[in-house]
Amino acid sequence: MPEPLRLQGISASAGYAEGPLFDLDRVAAQYASKVTAADEKAALETAIGIATGRLATLIATSEGDAADILEFQVAMLEDDALTGPAFAAIAAGQPADAAWRQALDAEIAGYETSDQDYFRARGADMRDIRDQVLRALTEDGDIAVPAGAIFYGEDIAPTRFLETDWSSGGGIALKAGNTASHVAMLARSRGVPMVVGLGVVGLGASPADLAGAALLDAEHGGIVLAPSKAEIEAFRRSSLSFAARRDKAETYLAKPAVTKAGTAVRVQVNIADPSDVDGIDIATCDGVGLMRTEFLFGKTLPDEETQYRAYRKVLEWAGDKPVTIRTVDAGGDKPVPGFTVEENNPFLGLRGIRLSLARPQVFRVQIRALLRAAVHGNLKVMFPMIAVADEYARAVALFAEEQTALAARGIAQKMPPLGIMVEVPSVAIVPEAFADVAFFSIGSNDLTQYVMAAARDNASVAHLNSVRHPAVLRLIASVAAYGRAQQIPVSLCGDAGGEPTSIPALLEAGLRDLSVVPAQLAMAKAAIADASV
Ligand code: PEP
Ligand code: MG
Repeated sequence: MPEPLRLQGISASAGYAEGPLFDLDRVAAQYASKVTAADEKAALETAIGIATGRLATLIATSEGDAADILEFQVAMLEDDALTGPAFAAIAAGQPADAAWRQALDAEIAGYETSDQDYFRARGADMRDIRDQVLRALTEDGDIAVPAGAIFYGEDIAPTRFLETDWSSGGGIALKAGNTASHVAMLARSRGVPMVVGLGVVGLGASPADLAGAALLDAEHGGIVLAPSKAEIEAFRRSSLSFAARRDKAETYLAKPAVTKAGTAVRVQVNIADPSDVDGIDIATCDGVGLMRTEFLFGKTLPDEETQYRAYRKVLEWAGDKPVTIRTVDAGGDKPVPGFTVEENNPFLGLRGIRLSLARPQVFRVQIRALLRAAVHGNLKVMFPMIAVADEYARAVALFAEEQTALAARGIAQKMPPLGIMVEVPSVAIVPEAFADVAFFSIGSNDLTQYVMAAARDNASVAHLNSVRHPAVLRLIASVAAYGRAQQIPVSLCGDAGGEPTSIPALLEAGLRDLSVVPAQLAMAKAAIADASV
């Protein structure tokens, strides 16, 4: 019996899974080389055809983000710029598998060596494309994965996630990976437990020898391989308690959030894509506390009409409930090709409002779309990464200028209340420098990483990155107190707002308005009901 091995990473999607390990990094079957270059070329064409066909089948049963990912992959497979170098290598005498691997690896290296999360995350899509075609070439596409398996390896392909039947349990444990990847996003929306950043540690046995022996605790971000009997029992108790909390939480979904002591708390949702609201009943939340707009800027810079339609859709869905849209927070971990700049230290660089003010021609397009959308609902707009009052003043001035210009053209528009994110410590330390803002929204993800000097996406400093550190809580409490004294509304839209373990401390700090990811809405309301504030 191998010794128990405990690995710690970062939770990317909360939950528990117990089951056999499935080795994502296992060596694929050997490719049988063909005699002529023409046969090699035909083999690669057939394999690309098989991979495209599999993707088309998956697209037919997918929607939203999942369909977008798959369509991106089909487009890549149909792009001569990607496949051309492989066919050229075959013409020069290489076998199909080596030619394909080499061409794709060159492409993937560009993504993976990027110092930016966003591109590293897209690298997983490229590896997925590479491996699907290799699987088709070696006819190794159908290795059976045991029901309820925990996929363990370097990273997992989005198609692997989408092909898997998660109804009998299972989970994902990655040595690398990150919480911003496509698969992490899918795992959260489908409730599949997932941990990333476990590190490259020798298991002391092959994953197959450890089959039947893994415990994935994606609530706290750990995995135990070859656990002891006592560990299995303790794990099952935690897992049952999590399931019970989740089931019980569902009963809170339809009710307004109130603490045990009778204090009302507003709970709004965080969204990114306008389609996110399709699965949410507006009656279960108090509006949208944060709509991130970076996704709109993901591939190209969106025009005014595209943005207007996206904002209007969410405003009409929310009716008279507030929708807080954040102007584009590009940069940092969210680069946008053609907009953001290459920097050594992007988290401390030209991101958020700094970039928008540096590129007013891009910012003005978003401002016009927001002013026009404002007539369709209860819009509020906020600026990300504000550090000094002058940035707020300049952004407000641009809104006023664009409003005047739209009015002169007879175009319907409305000035929304304009507020700021509190995520740079300078604002949290001296909130009185911002006495004229319409509202504050605390971005605890960034505020915590900047106060603790611990990157939000780095597993090795995850123990420092805690919103419950007294330094972070003291700042939050002081902003809440300032808001109360000046009658400036204060909410919190960082991920901590949806963490049951952090909610009591946030309420103690004086917050009464949280915005959480939709998947955490029920759990957050249940945690509020349990708090004695
Ligand atoms: C935050 O920093 O807490 C926040 C909500 O913004 P983002 O996660 O998009 O940086
Ligand atoms: Mg932020």
